[in-house]
Amino acid sequence: MRIACISDTHSNLEALTAVLKVIDERGVDAIFCMGDIVGYGADAAACVDLVRERCTAVVMGNHDAAVALDRDLNKLPRDGQEAALHNRAQLSDEQLDYLRGLPMRLEVDGCALAHATPHRPEAWIRMHSYATVSEQFKHFQAPVCFVGHTHVPGVVAEKIGVLSVRPGNRYLINVGSVGQPRDKNPRACVAFFDSVTFQYELVRVPYDIGSAAAKIRSAGLPVSLAKRLEVGE
Ligand code: ZN
Repeated sequence: MRIACISDTHSNLEALTAVLKVIDERGVDAIFCMGDIVGYGADAAACVDLVRERCTAVVMGNHDAAVALDRDLNKLPRDGQEAALHNRAQLSDEQLDYLRGLPMRLEVDGCALAHATPHRPEAWIRMHSYATVSEQFKHFQAPVCFVGHTHVPGVVAEKIGVLSVRPGNRYLINVGSVGQPRDKNPRACVAFFDSVTFQYELVRVPYDIGSAAAKIRSAGLPVSLAKRLEVGE
């Protein structure tokens, strides 16, 4: 099964559209989304509709929870809080209901999905230490778990010394961010995974950053949210 993984779209319609075009060119059997469809950007409604239409499995992110459930809104950075309130006002009750109904984690087609971590996903933990990362492997059954949340792509194997993604080992894979990359590469992230061969590839997709940034500015959202798109941090 050929799977495309996206995460952390953050209401960036230009980035999401560009990524979906690459996915369609390659052709996949399923698209998984690791949450944070909304927050930060200006196009919440269109992004919710597109993810809902195109993705076969979607989990809830902390910004989705802040926007739709008012959960942990005060734990977001100040600009993120402003964007969450803006996004909430933009969404219909039906779109908010969709976000409210998203699961915290899933296991589908031999893959585990969570926004931040498979263990206690509702705590929105950032995996900055090896101890935190290695603990996660006890909390999913599948050979592969896809996550997002930090907006920094990366692959960690359960066993030390396993340097490529291949069958017979287990992996925790952060697929990066579609709409707000933070690894100093402003291009959007999309990951491709073959659940039979375990071939894994992270692709970076250029998109119209100027237009996404201009929409953030004209929506009256903090300028910092537009600027960071240009530098990818
Ligand atoms: Zn995010």
